[in-house]
Amino acid sequence: MSGSPSSDAVRKDFRSLWHPFTQMEEWLGEEPLVIERAEANELIDDSGRRYFDGVSSLWCNVHGHRHPKIDGAIRAQLDRVAHSTMLGLTHPGAAELADRLARISPGKLTRVFYSDAGATAVEIALKQAFQYFGLRGETGRSKFLSLAEAYHGDTIGAMSVGYSEAFHRYHRPLLFEAIRTTPPHVFRWERRLDEKAALQVAIDEARRTFATHGEELAGVIVEPLVQGAAGIWPHPPAYLAELARLAKEAGTLLICDEVATGFGRTGALFACELAGVEPDLFCVGKGLTGGYLPLAATLATEEVFETFLAPYDQLSTFFHGHTFTGNPLCCAASLASLDVFEEEKTMEHVGEIAPNLHARLDDDVASLEHVGDVRHQGLMVGIEIVEERETRAPYPSGKRMAYRSCLAARRHGVIIRPLGDTIVLMPPLSATPEQIDLLVDATVAGIREVTES
Ligand SMILES: *Cc1c(COP(=O)(O)O)cnc(C)c1O
Repeated sequence: MSGSPSSDAVRKDFRSLWHPFTQMEEWLGEEPLVIERAEANELIDDSGRRYFDGVSSLWCNVHGHRHPKIDGAIRAQLDRVAHSTMLGLTHPGAAELADRLARISPGKLTRVFYSDAGATAVEIALKQAFQYFGLRGETGRSKFLSLAEAYHGDTIGAMSVGYSEAFHRYHRPLLFEAIRTTPPHVFRWERRLDEKAALQVAIDEARRTFATHGEELAGVIVEPLVQGAAGIWPHPPAYLAELARLAKEAGTLLICDEVATGFGRTGALFACELAGVEPDLFCVGKGLTGGYLPLAATLATEEVFETFLAPYDQLSTFFHGHTFTGNPLCCAASLASLDVFEEEKTMEHVGEIAPNLHARLDDDVASLEHVGDVRHQGLMVGIEIVEERETRAPYPSGKRMAYRSCLAARRHGVIIRPLGDTIVLMPPLSATPEQIDLLVDATVAGIREVTES
């Protein structure tokens, strides 16, 4: 840690920037890494050093950086138009992408509403669900049910359904009240139940929650199969399937937030497929453009969509939109990314590298002295760092053990980032078997250096 700004970029960063999710006092005391360019799955810093992109540039890169097909599609679109508007006009890319998303998404989703971030996709789903019941005259349905420790983004509505004490404590008075139910992993981790017992307890709680609140619910929102920002906590497909069944039985809408899990991350194109679940509203973001550009989408069933249809003066329009909604460059990138999935048989490749990743984690990470738990689903991995393995007692948070392990791993050529005490690995779907090995080796080295010193 030199703390001495070494380049023009760092000097200006230190003087003028405020970084997301960053304690700026800590940031200003360290020498930041300046990424200048990238090539496939590697990021390259201003001195030419290469790093494997171990968290896919915050969970979004899919096929690697500077993919010729995606770059080419964006350049070609640039020669046509960079931005027009979806308010009162349309364009070929937005229409084509909507058609393809409707066809590849799970269940009976037919309508695509664009926005520009995962959080906005969630806000839109919440507002659509709420208005759907308003239009039907079911005004008693005014609440949302979500999972404990869920994360759905950082805007007010998304925070309300995704409350995290660490992230949101200062904004709590601004949030609307949501009903929570506890997912299985909490019982497994905190009460040390085995998988089957934890699932049963969680299902029992969900049934009680629906029995009490089912009739006041405008929607049930869930991150299917993996709660990402909570610390990569997977739940069994049977849990998701039961939530979907309870939502249907209660006559409310199921909102699946696949902003993190979508586009192949869990081993299927969408996590819902692995549980055979058919959402009423569906949110995607992050990997939609291959991780290139800010585009998100909220998909709805025809049944939800039709409810909003009426003569204009009834004002049942969904009055919502963002300036850059459906941006043509973003749509071009997304279409190219979907082409790459087919041409490079990306999901088959994931089926080959994911088992290697899991085996290496089981063999070389799970046994480490200060690793309390290793969780994975597809290419999403959480490694829990603990002070004492037996009791799973955490280190004091000020020690920043997971954070420092990630910085140490950087010296071994990979960029990774923790969530609290959890080290997250989230390689691009295009990672090679050698890069998966490098990722695990560097992570092991980083953890050992920090926890054994
Ligand atoms: C990242 C994330 C979001 C928020 O997406 P942004 O593009 O950062 O607004 C929402 N839901 C889930 C599950 C996420 O992982």
